[in-house]
Amino acid sequence: MLGLMQSQPLLISSLLEFAERHHGDGEIVSRRVEGDIHRYTYKDVAARARRVANALDDLKLAFSDRVATLAWNGYRHLELYFGVSGSGRVLHTINPRLHPEQIAWIANHAEDQVLCFDMTFLSLIQAVHAKCATVKHWIALCDADKLPADSGIPNLTSYEAWIGAQSSDYAWPEFDENSASSMCYTSGTTGNPKAALYSHRSTTLHAYAAALPDVMCLSARDSVLPVVPMFHVNAWGLPYSAALTGCKLVFPGPALDGKSVYDLIEAEQVTFAAGVPTVWQMLLTHMKPAGLKFSRLNRTVIGGSACPPAMITAFQEDYGVEVLHAWGMTEMSPLGTLCTLKNKHLALPKDEQMKIRLKQGRAIYGVDMKIVGEDGQELPRDGKTYGDLLVRGPWIVREYFKGEGGDPLVKDANGHGWFPTGDVATIDADGYMQITDRSKDVIKSGGEWISSIDIENIAVAHPAVAMAACIGVKHPKWDERPIIAVVKRPGAEVTREELLKFYEGKTAKWQIPDDVVFVDAIPLGATGKILKTRLREQLKDYKLPQL
Ligand code: ADP
Repeated sequence: MLGLMQSQPLLISSLLEFAERHHGDGEIVSRRVEGDIHRYTYKDVAARARRVANALDDLKLAFSDRVATLAWNGYRHLELYFGVSGSGRVLHTINPRLHPEQIAWIANHAEDQVLCFDMTFLSLIQAVHAKCATVKHWIALCDADKLPADSGIPNLTSYEAWIGAQSSDYAWPEFDENSASSMCYTSGTTGNPKAALYSHRSTTLHAYAAALPDVMCLSARDSVLPVVPMFHVNAWGLPYSAALTGCKLVFPGPALDGKSVYDLIEAEQVTFAAGVPTVWQMLLTHMKPAGLKFSRLNRTVIGGSACPPAMITAFQEDYGVEVLHAWGMTEMSPLGTLCTLKNKHLALPKDEQMKIRLKQGRAIYGVDMKIVGEDGQELPRDGKTYGDLLVRGPWIVREYFKGEGGDPLVKDANGHGWFPTGDVATIDADGYMQITDRSKDVIKSGGEWISSIDIENIAVAHPAVAMAACIGVKHPKWDERPIIAVVKRPGAEVTREELLKFYEGKTAKWQIPDDVVFVDAIPLGATGKILKTRLREQLKDYKLPQL
């Protein structure tokens, strides 16, 4: 017997319709590429998203055709999020930090028909447009009078002229909630990038889940700053969850330096911000010497790579901001776990609470996870045993776009498919998961594993260290030994011996790195994560001092 409830597809357009109707005057503030601040409301987004939908109809774009963006976090990008997906097309957000060759490669692979770009990326588009064979329409996200006269880009139109010619009346179509809504390519550190193709259903369910109290706890009382880019995994789903909850949205545009982010947080009375550790590091570096404080910011989600304990402490002790450690990946829309305490933890001393906060957190309903050994058997949830982390759920990929890379899922005895995350982790009896490492970054020394994350966390707790990356180097006896590459803070000094001494008592002796290599910079990938592959290449002629 079937239930007798109404069946209504979960569509992205319904989020926007809800926002317009129920919190239409909710504010959306953007720092524009032009540098000024732009303000309007959910009502305005809804009207302009409908113009986008009409404009796409005018271009005769078919259902599921791809519309690409190369843009910062801002209101026009938000309109495209809803206008493109809402009208049944697929929004392809491209990461502008990728190599131009890679940008052209993925635009071709996705078969993008339209590409909308911020003026910051004009020269990038001028360099790659001839290689993007499928793109027929180029839209510059600017006013008509800002369009360059002779850009060399065929059929270049300004966004404002493009949508300005359209009506703001549009009836959002109803279709299967499993239809594709947006796509995002993984950074492709090995081989060509592969795309996760999200659906309306997966996106809407993820938006619900992200707003839950033990996840991001979003509400109509919040002022939310997504520093995480809308060009990578939909800014962790925040644009959708914002429409669902009616929080104020504050977009930083291209200005991600510490001062600009701080000024925006204060001016817009931001209560909640989300970003990767590298961005927060810039913010803290700006605030500390000037003795600045936050007036309303009370919590921040930090994820994308492991959040160093020093950062959690600084936010909490110096600024009264609760850090919520989060873990996820492109293939997971991206949220998998968030770290919030349970009732029974509230009476624990601070250092005990800190041990929990450092973990990547508990699974969100909708994400099932387990760790397995080499034989594929599930390992105990004891907080000590580590294994390969597998996940399944309605917002996790089943396969990549165009079947790239074959069937990625691992089947269990019941025939259920699990996605292998490539992370090595522990899960404890309370359900808290902790990443030990990415499987390819774990250092194997004398048959034992060393977590490069643990080694890096200790180094960045040293006051003279700005950034650190740990890699394994070949060793005749131990197979691999860890070394730590370190970037010093400007004006700060620390010697190799001092830093190695700093490790004493903080980790097992045999896990202390064999050497410290001081470098000017550590290579970062397109999503701000340390590129260990490139670092290994840079240090390929390095020899351990003892050998
Ligand atoms: P990529 O395109 O590089 O895969 P993702 O954003 O999908 O970019 O990266 C996902 C990976 O990032 C995870 O598998 C994990 O290794 C790492 N990661 C994400 N969040 C955390 C975290 N809080 N702690 C440690 N590692 C993390």
